[in-house]
Amino acid sequence: MIKAFAVFEPKGELKPFEYDPGELKPHEVEIDVHYCGICHSDLSVIDNEWGMTQYPVVPGHEVVGTIAKVGDKVKHLTVSQIVGLGWHSGYCNECALCRTGDHNLCTDSQATIIGHHGGFADKVRADANSVVLIPDGIELESAGPLFCGGITVFNPLVQFDIKPTDKVAVIGIGGLGHLALQFLFRFDRPSFWPEAGLTPDT
Ligand SMILES: [Zn+2]
Ligand SMILES: [Zn+2]
Repeated sequence: MIKAFAVFEPKGELKPFEYDPGELKPHEVEIDVHYCGICHSDLSVIDNEWGMTQYPVVPGHEVVGTIAKVGDKVKHLTVSQIVGLGWHSGYCNECALCRTGDHNLCTDSQATIIGHHGGFADKVRADANSVVLIPDGIELESAGPLFCGGITVFNPLVQFDIKPTDKVAVIGIGGLGHLALQFLFRFDRPSFWPEAGLTPDT
C-alpha cells in the first residue's frame, strides 16, 4: 500500500489516505518520495477550480525521490537513481509531438494529479518516459520546483534560442518568475551553457 495525503471534496483538507497501486506496469517506475514541492496548481486541483479533479486526489507534482522499482520494459532507469517527476506522469510516446521531442504538448499525456495519484505520499508511480534524472550537485530539498515552474520557464528560453546577449523580460516574480530570473542570471556565465546541454553560437 502507498501511504499518502488526499483531499476528498472541493476545498477539502488533506487527510491520511492509503491506496493499492496494483502491479507495476512494464513501462512504469516506482519512486520513493524524499521531497515534494507545493505548487498553486495543487491548490487549483484540490479546489476543483478547473472542473477536472477526480477525488480522492493525492496532490504533489514536484517530486524528488529515488527509483525503488522499474518495470520490465524500462531500459534507461535503474533502482537507486535520484529522479524528479513533474506535472506529467506519462506520454503516449507515439504521436507526432512525442516523436519530435515535444512530449509536453502530447494530447494523450497523463497528468500526475488528475486521474492519477501524486507525490504527497511515501511513493509515487509514473511512466519512465516522464521521469527526469537529477544530476549530482543539485540540492534535493529545493529541486522540486524545477519540474514544474522551472521547466515551464526554461523551455521557452530554449525554444526561442535565447542567447547571452539577448534581453528578456520576466513579468511577475512568482513561482515561475523567480526561477526564470535565476536561469537568466546564469546565462552569461560560460559554465552554464555546457552544464545545461546548450551551445551558445555567439
Ligand atoms: Zn505546478
Ligand atoms: Zn504523444
